[in-house]
Amino acid sequence: MKNKSPLPIYTSQSDPDGKLLAQPSDISIRKHKVNTQFARNVYIETYGCQMNVSDSELMAGILTQAGHHTVANIDEADVILLNTCAIRENAETKVINRLEHLNHRKRREGNLIIGVCGCMAQHLRDKLLEAAPYVDLVMGPDAYRNLPMALNAVASGDPFLGLQLDKSEDYADIAPIRKEGIRAWLTIQRGCDKMCTFCIVPFVRGRERSLPLKLLTDDVQRLVDEGFKEIVLLGQTVNSYHDGDNDFGELLWRIAEVDGVERVRFTSPHPADATDSMIDAMENCPQVCKQLHLPLQSGSTQVLQRMRRTYTAEQYRDLVSKIRDRIPQIAISTDVIVGFCEETEKDFKQTYNLMEEIRFDSAFMFKYSDRDGTLANKMLPDDVPEEEKARRLNEIISLQEKISGEINQSKIGTTVPVLVEGDSRRDSDQYHGKTDTFKTTVFPKDNAQVGDIVNVKIQSATAHTLIGDIVT
Ligand code: SF4
Repeated sequence: MKNKSPLPIYTSQSDPDGKLLAQPSDISIRKHKVNTQFARNVYIETYGCQMNVSDSELMAGILTQAGHHTVANIDEADVILLNTCAIRENAETKVINRLEHLNHRKRREGNLIIGVCGCMAQHLRDKLLEAAPYVDLVMGPDAYRNLPMALNAVASGDPFLGLQLDKSEDYADIAPIRKEGIRAWLTIQRGCDKMCTFCIVPFVRGRERSLPLKLLTDDVQRLVDEGFKEIVLLGQTVNSYHDGDNDFGELLWRIAEVDGVERVRFTSPHPADATDSMIDAMENCPQVCKQLHLPLQSGSTQVLQRMRRTYTAEQYRDLVSKIRDRIPQIAISTDVIVGFCEETEKDFKQTYNLMEEIRFDSAFMFKYSDRDGTLANKMLPDDVPEEEKARRLNEIISLQEKISGEINQSKIGTTVPVLVEGDSRRDSDQYHGKTDTFKTTVFPKDNAQVGDIVNVKIQSATAHTLIGDIVT
């Protein structure tokens, strides 16, 4: 449990271990007084991954516990917090543009508090205040507990920086405020110890830490009682979960046993942590969905070594074969980066060929972009020309579209259970939902209700969607 006493304003530089690297920076601090007013209306705008969505829910919990209100309408807010992503440069550019826009309103209203939270705050630190001096608070992912104190502190006119990384911070005692729905995201682990060379996450989210199993099963029981049908377990390397006594496979079993749980998923696992214990639970727990997002990143062992991914292409291929032998119906998706430092045409072909061989159900595919603060930025040349990166990306996108289309076409005529999520975006007479294998499925509503699991007979398919009818 964390000590909740107010902490000093942090302006220290710390590494993922939380060790002090440099003294408080010499930023010029502007004074623009913000009126103190208890019970503020806070609007949280979330960028980036599901982990950030989950963190925004946590921030809402912390603020609500302190007597503030979170609002769904930005016009009603006197505090706007952007919960940001640092994974790519354009994610940060987007936030800077958004801040400029919000500053127009701040100039008009005077009292508006603007905060930048999350990974970009941790990455840019006080440089953010140089780029956007009107920002009132800058807060990294391990400092959200200080949000209520920060809102009071900015009233003095000084910006608040909360940038301490803290390996002991797991927010175990905070109840997140979630939107109603059928799917709940539950953070089971924070931080990452893997240090992939292309990735900023270990530097902005700190070292890995897992929440206790009992606390998580109690959380899941609460979520089920609140009406959530599907629980998605979240962690940077979710399957490296270990609370000291229980590994990830054990956690899956215990969560699946919680009374009333219908579906359990998780994201994102690391191939090196895909143990037999995890595969056993996926194979044998009916509640654990037969879907696995297993980031490959590259099909070249040389590139994987430069990425410090800790597995070879051969080991990845064997892992997929083993999982498919045990769970033939499983859908496997992946992440792939092309144009990583010193990637040759031969390396790229190995990636292309491995994707062709494995036939992923879907893939998130990216051109490598150099990020300052990463190990690759310090150690490796970003030497693949931009147009070459684009060509390689287009080639694997075309390949994957074809494969995804063929896999989905093969589902025509089959009947699949689908969890009804809500109205289809294109046609309000239809629902959309997800299969156990996480395929988006669209079908006429009939008499089904949101939250039901219905059997849908697939009549047609695109690379991204299955289309069918409810059958009894
Ligand atoms: S496993 Fe690698 S890519 Fe994933 S969060 Fe950790 S360092 Fe980043």
